[in-house]
Amino acid sequence: MSNLRFKVVSEAFKKKALAVTSPGGMTSEYYGKYVFNREKMIKYLSKETYKTLTKAIDNGETLDRTIANGVAAGMKSWAMEMGATHYTHWFQPLTEGTAEKHDSFIEYAGMPGGPVIEEFSGKLLAQAEPDASSFPSGGIRSTFEARGYTAWDPSSPAFIVDDTLCIPTVFISYTGEQLDYKTPLLKALGAVDKAAVDVCHYFDASVKKVFSYLGWEQEYFLVDEGLYAARPDLLLTGRTLIGHESAKNQQLDDHYFGAIPQRVQAFMRDLEFEGYKYNIPLKTRHNEVAPNQFELAPIFNETNFANDQNLLIMTIMEKIARKHGFRVLLHEKPFAGINGSGKHNNWSLGTNTGVGLFTPGKTPEENLQFVTFVVNALMAVYKNNALLKASVMTAQNAHRLGANEAPPAIISVFLGSQISAVLDKLENATSEEAIIMDSKKKMKLAVATIPELLIDNTDRNRTSPFAFTGNRFEFRAVGSSANCACAMIALNSAMAAQLKDFKAAVDAKIAAGESKSKALFEVIKQYIKESKAIRFDGNGYSDEWKAEAAKRGLNCETSVPVIYDAYTTPESVKMFESLGVFSKRELEARNEIKWETYTKKIQIEARVLGDMAINNIIPVATRYQSLLLDNVYKMTQVYGKDEALKLAGTDSDLIREISERIAKIKSLTAELVEARKVANKIEAEREKAVAYHDTVVPFFDKIRYEIDKLEMIVDDEMWTLPKYRELLFIR
Ligand code: ADP
Ligand code: MG
Repeated sequence: MSNLRFKVVSEAFKKKALAVTSPGGMTSEYYGKYVFNREKMIKYLSKETYKTLTKAIDNGETLDRTIANGVAAGMKSWAMEMGATHYTHWFQPLTEGTAEKHDSFIEYAGMPGGPVIEEFSGKLLAQAEPDASSFPSGGIRSTFEARGYTAWDPSSPAFIVDDTLCIPTVFISYTGEQLDYKTPLLKALGAVDKAAVDVCHYFDASVKKVFSYLGWEQEYFLVDEGLYAARPDLLLTGRTLIGHESAKNQQLDDHYFGAIPQRVQAFMRDLEFEGYKYNIPLKTRHNEVAPNQFELAPIFNETNFANDQNLLIMTIMEKIARKHGFRVLLHEKPFAGINGSGKHNNWSLGTNTGVGLFTPGKTPEENLQFVTFVVNALMAVYKNNALLKASVMTAQNAHRLGANEAPPAIISVFLGSQISAVLDKLENATSEEAIIMDSKKKMKLAVATIPELLIDNTDRNRTSPFAFTGNRFEFRAVGSSANCACAMIALNSAMAAQLKDFKAAVDAKIAAGESKSKALFEVIKQYIKESKAIRFDGNGYSDEWKAEAAKRGLNCETSVPVIYDAYTTPESVKMFESLGVFSKRELEARNEIKWETYTKKIQIEARVLGDMAINNIIPVATRYQSLLLDNVYKMTQVYGKDEALKLAGTDSDLIREISERIAKIKSLTAELVEARKVANKIEAEREKAVAYHDTVVPFFDKIRYEIDKLEMIVDDEMWTLPKYRELLFIR
């Protein structure tokens, strides 16, 4: 076996599971070890500082800057005891992932050149100015101020990675525009809190705060590091641009929930151990549908916090995977022909009194509140179905959404038969029978009873992009590599705006003299009718649904750059502005970035595909072809021309097929380059992205088709790129 591919493959096969570094024992002993959580705050902060800080966090109040020094001093002592020497403001720019710029704690004690001391002041904790001018800002920063600054988000605790104290921050321009995901997320969460509290007050005056909760489920693939390094496409784009399907892939369904391979199990164990040290309550791990595909999920948490944890775990995953000789693929579609990866966002709202607003209540009073919130969620998704799709759409996720795979590119809501039946009953009821007053003058949902445990909880409709699952909605269209904030900003804003509309409508009726129960009933009934188009419990993958959804007026657009237009429609602008989440200018700037990112991703993929076609595929195919030609030629020497051509029948066919496919690859690649050149001349980001989508992307499948056919006929030993069967079945 001289071939390089065989070498990396056999190396990969030989790898054994590494020992797990987890000490075992009680998880609680090391849980949160690297986080400046409440236990650390109690220990390292003065009583006064602790009280002020936690009160501000719990009530979502702005923090009194004067306590920053006290907090910084406490954080520094803790961090230094943990061996940290640096600190960083950790933020979420509009690229993928997180960004950080490390600074050491050292400062001159006195005059320049003299001895140094370790220092970390409140000022350094509260605000910093990363030289971040090359982060995308959609032109906002360049026209106003050159730089942005980061500011501490006290609601998410600081943590230590290696030797660095990381402080979660927002990232804003000097003119106040938001340049990140966290800032608008915090605003959207504030908006939904306020709007939901107001609506809760119809039912319970004691509610003071409503939390938005997020439970993410992270899907991912693992690939052996050696094989990964031998695939330029994986290395540079995160997905395979070519590769024939493996004879066996997921058809037997033998991977899903199967026994976890040992080497993977060791990785998972280490990952969990590391996650626990960061207060991330990882709960679930299992094999996913595709070979080498897995999932991990923590217990849900408050949304801002949960999102920070997801971003952190994505970084940790990459680190731990390498330790185990793997690379983790977070791309939405690393392999053609098998399932892609998503990140289901389980979303709910809950009050400070401990009531889940999407949890069916124990009493008819609680159920009235439950129905109110479910119906408002329906309306929010209905009115904003295009926007919600835009919030999860990327070049990568386009391979899942709408491309013969879960979930479809049309947003609809699955409610299940029991909740649907309740809504149907309400829709057909009269106000006297729907909501009645009990002896204590409390409103009750009288028309229908809702069992506490819903059967539909188990009757999962896996094809729905937005499904009610018993006590929450599961937004399944989110991509595996995404920052969940993008979807959570859109969803929580939509819900906030919807709840405000609801309250205004109900209050107007009350002001006109109607009783509270009648006013509530009438608006709920009207919403049930109005939002019907969004409800769909059938098969979301079917062609009939696509036709039906179009008839219902749901957004069916599939072109990524065009989908982003949903952010800047008059309705979206009005909604975001009225909540103070985004200004029109910010929405426009963020779309510029989305278009630019889309173009760049496709551009990189197109280059890599072209390079691989010319450098990896054509030379190998030509070499094999010349081997065949050599054979035919020698046969003519032995048998004479006519006899030899007869004998070499299939070889001559192969030679011809290889020639034809090589010619096609060459001409298609040339056309691809040309299409790119034309698109590159376009100035406007939107039009350029549209050109990339319409004129560049179509070449990908055509070129791939020819290459994958060659893979099937060229000598296995000559083929240099690891094949699907190797990438997917080696643990
Ligand atoms: P499944 O794969 O069956 O959908 P998982 O157990 O993998 O379920 O993940 C479900 C996720 O939903 C978990 O993160 C869980 O903590 C979260 N979750 C459960 N209840 C709620 C809720 N009320 N609000 C938000 N997330 C929730
Ligand atoms: Mg799920």
